[in-house]
Amino acid sequence: MSMNPLSGFRLCKIFGIPIYVNPTWFLVFALIVYSLASDRLPEFIPGSSNLFYWLAAIVGTLLFFLSLTAHELGHSLVSKSFGIPVRSITLHMFGGIAQLGSEVRRAREEFWIAIAGPIVSFALFLTFWGLSDIITSSMPAIGSFLSLLALLNIGVALFNLFPGFPLDGGRILRSIVWGISGNYIRATRISALGGQLFGYLLIAAGVLFAILDRYLGYLWMVLLGAFIIILARQSYRQSLTYHKLSNIKLADVYIPLVHVEEDTLVSDLFTDYIRSSGRQFFIVDFHGEPVGLLTPYEILRLPQPFWHITPVRSIMINLASVGRLPADLSLFDAMNLFERTGHNLFLVIDDDRIEGIVTRDTVVHVLGRTTSRV
Ligand SMILES: [Zn+2]
Repeated sequence: MSMNPLSGFRLCKIFGIPIYVNPTWFLVFALIVYSLASDRLPEFIPGSSNLFYWLAAIVGTLLFFLSLTAHELGHSLVSKSFGIPVRSITLHMFGGIAQLGSEVRRAREEFWIAIAGPIVSFALFLTFWGLSDIITSSMPAIGSFLSLLALLNIGVALFNLFPGFPLDGGRILRSIVWGISGNYIRATRISALGGQLFGYLLIAAGVLFAILDRYLGYLWMVLLGAFIIILARQSYRQSLTYHKLSNIKLADVYIPLVHVEEDTLVSDLFTDYIRSSGRQFFIVDFHGEPVGLLTPYEILRLPQPFWHITPVRSIMINLASVGRLPADLSLFDAMNLFERTGHNLFLVIDDDRIEGIVTRDTVVHVLGRTTSRV
């Protein structure tokens, strides 16, 4: 088991997608097993032995979390079928989350990715319900146990269909409003408001039940409500930022390159350009043809005593090995490509001419500027 500081322990890989378990999940697992074995199962399936309740509680909780994983796999596989990579699935105290490698670009894709999870949960509901129907007459306790699993899965499907961000229903609502109106920002705003409303409803319900029932256990609903409100706000801000990035073209933000001849000494490059004009990125020409690229990284890696005897061609990056992007590409698409390829820079091309370069830092820089304006 390897550890990811943000998500937790890595359990396994399914369809090439790593599955992580957040440490909070172990606590929730234990709590659910305990409350099922000591309280819920004896109530739901009376007259069985203690051993049965504990075994059923452990198996049932495992099957429930497997169901949640299947729900997330539903989102993930549809996402992959649209060419959107899935980085990981993480199980945490409130369920699961599938992290996509990039944002969804089309309303239709978002609709199908979002609805796939509840469809899987509904299919699981039908499966467990059907099995329980077959088994109940011969083994009533197991039959009731399976019908409980069926109810949990239909619960997951219905809960997630509430039309508010970040729930699946919120994404479905956004994709519909977005698809009909073409207005991504308005669609996102409506669905984020839905999510906040849902969060406040959960908090109110949690407090009300806790008072009426004199049972503090309902306060988990308050926690969940607060969690959903925070996520709804966060994903709204994030969507706005992404939207703004899609309106910025690489042509607006690229860093221009300075042409230097291949036999230029690094020391001359430093005094003539870097120190005097602050330029940092260079195209190296051989007989007027561009052959290499120089960034501050290559220059600083060379110990200073060698600067006045080393021509730039000996430290340059071969130009053919650097990826190229068109100048009219949006910064949003470029950001996704940085994520997907792991590259740190791309050449920006206009009409087959190298205009400049765009780096990961460019995106981070513009993102910082854009976020502060939201
Ligand atoms: Zn879902």
